[in-house]
Amino acid sequence: MIESLHGNLLTPPALLPPAQSERASTGRRADPESTQNSLLAAVSRKEYRRLLGMLEPVTLTFGDVLYEPGDVISHVYFPGVSLVSLLTLVDHHLALEVGLVGREGMVGLPLALGVGVSSTRALVQGAGVAMRMKSAHFLKELGHNLPLQRALFRYTHALMAQVARTAACNRFHVVEERLARWLLMTRDRVQSNDFPMTQEFLSHMLGVRRVGVTKAAGELHQRRLIEYSRGNIRIVDSHGLEVAACSCYQAIRDIS
Ligand SMILES: [Zn+2]
Repeated sequence: MIESLHGNLLTPPALLPPAQSERASTGRRADPESTQNSLLAAVSRKEYRRLLGMLEPVTLTFGDVLYEPGDVISHVYFPGVSLVSLLTLVDHHLALEVGLVGREGMVGLPLALGVGVSSTRALVQGAGVAMRMKSAHFLKELGHNLPLQRALFRYTHALMAQVARTAACNRFHVVEERLARWLLMTRDRVQSNDFPMTQEFLSHMLGVRRVGVTKAAGELHQRRLIEYSRGNIRIVDSHGLEVAACSCYQAIRDIS
């Protein structure tokens, strides 16, 4: 049953305008194929159909902030092809990405651990559809849905490992390697070699000055691994970019 759901996960869902999203929140319009999220795919088809009554498809927009540090988690989000960055804020104005949440995970994970407040900024980095659930519904569901519980525990471990590895990566690896890793991680989650991105945004994600990003991107471009135009990046040589990335790309991938 899980396998059949996974099979359907490869079909990207259509982007729903807000009006449709609202209607879908009743469960009438949504169907099992409308998610590409691995955690939701961990439950049986029958269970998933029941969960649909509590899930609302929403379209996430590039640059949207779902949570700031200290915000009460009112909903949890299960991304499809969309992508959310988790950033730690330092001294109220410096922000650094410490984690990426895509179709393999959930935004609002502290709730699963009994904490109702976000410690990070959750910033939409890849536009697209996600399914969201009210926190009260999620907590009730988590109490008795063992397959979902197990999938969330495994994911919690994977995200903790990703955050730990990212901390070490930021300290030990050079910007060019980190940029290659980051582009590949983004590519894997949005399932496209082509995605909107600005160098200013990248400098926030990698915690380096814009000139450092420009230099690293220029080197990857010179090696014919990526192309970029205003507001867009395209990976033209996936294998070459994997060679250029630091070992953290494969290490994080193995844990997920
Ligand atoms: Zn690294």
